[in-house]
Amino acid sequence: MQVATFLAYLVAAVLFVVGIRRLRKPETARSGNTIAAFGMLIALAATFLVIDTNATSVWLLIGGGVLLGGVVGAVSAQRVPMTGMPQMVAAFNGVGGGCIALVALSEFYQGRAETWVAASAGLLTIIIGSVSFAGSIVAFSKLQEIAFTGSVAFPLQQVVNALIFLGVLLLSANVFLDGALAEAVGIPFLSPLISLYILLAASLLLGVLFVIPIGGADMPIVISLLNAFTGLAAAASGFVLENYALLIAGTLVGASGTILTRQMSSALGRPLGKIIFAGIAATGGKQEEDDEEREVNDVSAEDVGSYLKEEANKIVIVPGYGLAVAQAQSPMYELMETLESDGKEVLFGIHPVAGRMPGHMNVLLTEAGVPYAKLYDLEDINPEFEETDAVIIVGANDVVNPAANDEEKDSPISGMPILEVENAKRVIFIKRSLSPGFAGVDNPLFYDTDKTMMLFTDAKQGLQEVTEAVKNA
Ligand code: NDP
Repeated sequence: MQVATFLAYLVAAVLFVVGIRRLRKPETARSGNTIAAFGMLIALAATFLVIDTNATSVWLLIGGGVLLGGVVGAVSAQRVPMTGMPQMVAAFNGVGGGCIALVALSEFYQGRAETWVAASAGLLTIIIGSVSFAGSIVAFSKLQEIAFTGSVAFPLQQVVNALIFLGVLLLSANVFLDGALAEAVGIPFLSPLISLYILLAASLLLGVLFVIPIGGADMPIVISLLNAFTGLAAAASGFVLENYALLIAGTLVGASGTILTRQMSSALGRPLGKIIFAGIAATGGKQEEDDEEREVNDVSAEDVGSYLKEEANKIVIVPGYGLAVAQAQSPMYELMETLESDGKEVLFGIHPVAGRMPGHMNVLLTEAGVPYAKLYDLEDINPEFEETDAVIIVGANDVVNPAANDEEKDSPISGMPILEVENAKRVIFIKRSLSPGFAGVDNPLFYDTDKTMMLFTDAKQGLQEVTEAVKNA
């Protein structure tokens, strides 16, 4: 490798690390993203220096690929709404995994995976890349509610998965032994190349079967796990192609994805083994009393305004997915200012999986100007609720649903730590109806007519009306 390329890869690697480090805080995240993207640009430019061909068709292909990828990436990033970010992450992650699997397949096809290191790294790349591609496409379909919504399970699913996995291992061994395994067991037509194609198909199927049973509160963890898979596959393909940039970038993505997965699974009380192997029914706690009309305390914005003005001193606001849908972050900021100008104490309680992507609420509220010091994490806000006069829950359900604590039900949110809003004196929901959230689990707090006020409206409109009502009360 030329010295210039090596040095460029080194600079790119440093920029990746600096970029990732800056992603830790909302204030520096934007510049962290730009720095890492700049590192990727340098790595891409340096890769052109090692391409060993003068053939116009190859350069046209590479140029066309870069142009197509760049345009699709830029246009979709511009157009995607905040609420659609997880789907976009899942889709981009998926194409990354699929692309790496195809690159490794072509290395085998051209007979370049000759050493045992290259062969084993190539096999790993095909398996993990294909699982990541298929799994991410299923995750995309679930989040976009196109297909596989909720938990899709069938009898003996784990046995089927285990058998496919065994098949993948045997096919890999056959490729590794140059077809000797198939010959030994009397299926000589199973050449290494045919084994590779079947291996690719089996890994894709495994990716689908791995993600279809997962639903509800576990989706963020699965997206992060698939991200880690793609990183690992990229790192393995770095070995096959002897490309340091891929090796370093893949290792960084794999390591950070693994750390994020572990942190989310422990923060949510959802052990990874249970998510992967148990396939929890996503409809577990849904609307048990569908047929029965249940009473709720249906209030107006004026009722909420006068309660806040006259009886509440300490107020906690809990934002959720509906806030992002309604783009109601600025009206939320105005309500905070109005309450504070009346001498009230206002805090924000942010659940780690509120919204549809990690850090979703922090990004929205910081964007609207809410001081970072007012955003309290789950562990920090929970002790505050006992002394809170009113919790205003805007477009959220799962993250405040006490059904998560019901040990007898194996619902999609069982065991997930929640914001313990029920400990506050009053709970005020601003949402459009009684429908549950992403996990589909009904919330008993809706029906606690002594404690809960339900303001049925769009989040933006509701916050604006409540702000006016506080001013006029
Ligand atoms: P939920 O999905 O539990 O609830 C959102 C609520 O918002 C709904 O009940 C809906 O009720 C309401 N809503 C929707 N649109 C509006 C609107 N325009 N105005 C007012 N309300 C609205 O959200 P949470 O934030 O509480 O929980 C997040 C869930 O998403 C968790 O289950 C989490 O696991 C999952 N998830 C999180 C990801 C992440 O990384 N953060 C990624 C993928 C999934 P109604 O229709 O009655 O208005």
